Amino acid sequence: MPDTYVYSITQDNPETIYINLTNKCTNNCVFCIRNLSNPIKGKDLWLENENVTLDKIKSQLEKYSNYKEVVFCGYGEPTIKLDLLKDVSKYLKSKNAGIKIRINTNGQGNIINNKNIIPELKNIVDEISVSLNASNNEDYMQISGCKNENAYDSVKDFIKQSVENGFNTTATVVTGYKNYKVDIKECEKITKQAGAKFRIREWLDKGY
Ligand code: SF4
Repeated sequence: MPDTYVYSITQDNPETIYINLTNKCTNNCVFCIRNLSNPIKGKDLWLENENVTLDKIKSQLEKYSNYKEVVFCGYGEPTIKLDLLKDVSKYLKSKNAGIKIRINTNGQGNIINNKNIIPELKNIVDEISVSLNASNNEDYMQISGCKNENAYDSVKDFIKQSVENGFNTTATVVTGYKNYKVDIKECEKITKQAGAKFRIREWLDKGY
């Protein structure tokens, strides 16, 4: 079976499709679907080969003709492959300037790439959805399994900068996973202070 870089989670030729760039992530969240079940909605997203290229993605895009929105999501953190993410976004925008492009990210792109990546996403990405998942550093470290003590502050800053740079920005929080408690009100307050939208994602054990 070839690796799956482009997939859908609804009907065969949907308006929203998803792009899977990598298995890698700087987090190891307690609820990460990678550790719990495979595949997501029948799509096996584990990449046997991390050598993903624009051409490989282009060839899998050919299967779809009706999409109006593309989401970088999948099993890992898309900003780990920033250059490829940008190349694919540029390609999609060149084919259809009206296409909507969203990144679902853990918000650590600036740490991962050791620079502020937000200006580089302007005009090629429309929406940024950031996993906030906690109202303080201690909870974040526990839930995310991240090794970088500065990650939580960086994630909050990423949300703020994303808003300030004009991206349609949403911070998300996963609830309902085992007995992990999240202070939803405080997460919402942090999000509103940053000027972003807030979304609660109910944990679903078979993916999302
Ligand atoms: S940020 Fe997302 S991909 Fe990374 S470990 Fe957490 S749930 Fe998994």
